[in-house]
Amino acid sequence: MSKNDLVKKEHESDGIDRRGFLKCMQWAGTGIIWSVSGGVPVSQLLAADGKKMRAEDFAFVQISDSHIGFNKAANPDVVGTLQAAVAKINALERAPDFLIHTGDLTHLAKANEFDDLSEVLKTSRQQQVFYVPGEHDVTGDDGKRYLDRFGKGTSGKGWHSFNHKGVHFVGLNNVVQLEGLGKIGQEQLDWLRKDLGPVSASTPIVVFAHIPLWSVYPEWGWGTADSEQALALLKRFGSVTVLNGHIHQVMQKVEGNVTFHTAMSTAFPQPAPGSAPAAGPMKVPAERLREVLGVCDVNFAAGRHGLAVVDEPLAAAGGKGNG
Ligand SMILES: [Zn+2]
Ligand SMILES: [Zn+2]
Repeated sequence: MSKNDLVKKEHESDGIDRRGFLKCMQWAGTGIIWSVSGGVPVSQLLAADGKKMRAEDFAFVQISDSHIGFNKAANPDVVGTLQAAVAKINALERAPDFLIHTGDLTHLAKANEFDDLSEVLKTSRQQQVFYVPGEHDVTGDDGKRYLDRFGKGTSGKGWHSFNHKGVHFVGLNNVVQLEGLGKIGQEQLDWLRKDLGPVSASTPIVVFAHIPLWSVYPEWGWGTADSEQALALLKRFGSVTVLNGHIHQVMQKVEGNVTFHTAMSTAFPQPAPGSAPAAGPMKVPAERLREVLGVCDVNFAAGRHGLAVVDEPLAAAGGKGNG
């Protein structure tokens, strides 16, 4: 059975939202491809709309919320699941050019937790990793330890940008001035305005930050108080992709030129917005845990609008490994 058949079969057999899947196929026509269930090799998806990957195309992988140091029932082995995530990345058909970690590297920002994270990521075939902090990484010391280790070459409290094969990447820190919701702050917004100034409107933009830059569920702090000001600076660009973590589940939204996507955690899932009394680690049956943890494989095809974003769970639904 081919991987495509397997995926089709999974869609038929385990009740994954059919409308969601159809929507994802529809978006394929405009170049934005979501895989709701994950595990679909991207090369096949791109072939599905008649385009082949070219030399200037590239992929990168988003890791999020590894929470090294967490040891409660929702996942007593967060190092093990991060190792599984790296194994997943190392097994991807198309090697990513680099990795992005969208925060909550650690659970309590302790030195040994940062050490353990670095040790695991050293086993990745791709050594270049770009980081932004989560609120768990700046707890206790205002982010000093995080910045010492992962803030080299960044501005302010760890914000930074870089260009890669025609795409402009911006990493934001929206966890330092936490007030229930995330906050970017005026200093960083001023920096962002300057940073984007010389970038042409046709340049694809990827923004990554820990807390969602859209209002997912403000009641649980799942949003960023001043995200509108950042999004206003991004309005003139034809293609903007915003990648976030923090909520430990996949959510997506398209608003005008901006595509928002949140990634799975590699450590533990959280409840769907409003489906539990509060946010927090959610215990699922042990055999299901790796179906709700994973990474996000992001693919860029030059000359096309948008990026192909494929969520890759550590294990396929129904207990079958998917590579
Ligand atoms: Zn987290
Ligand atoms: Zn967080």
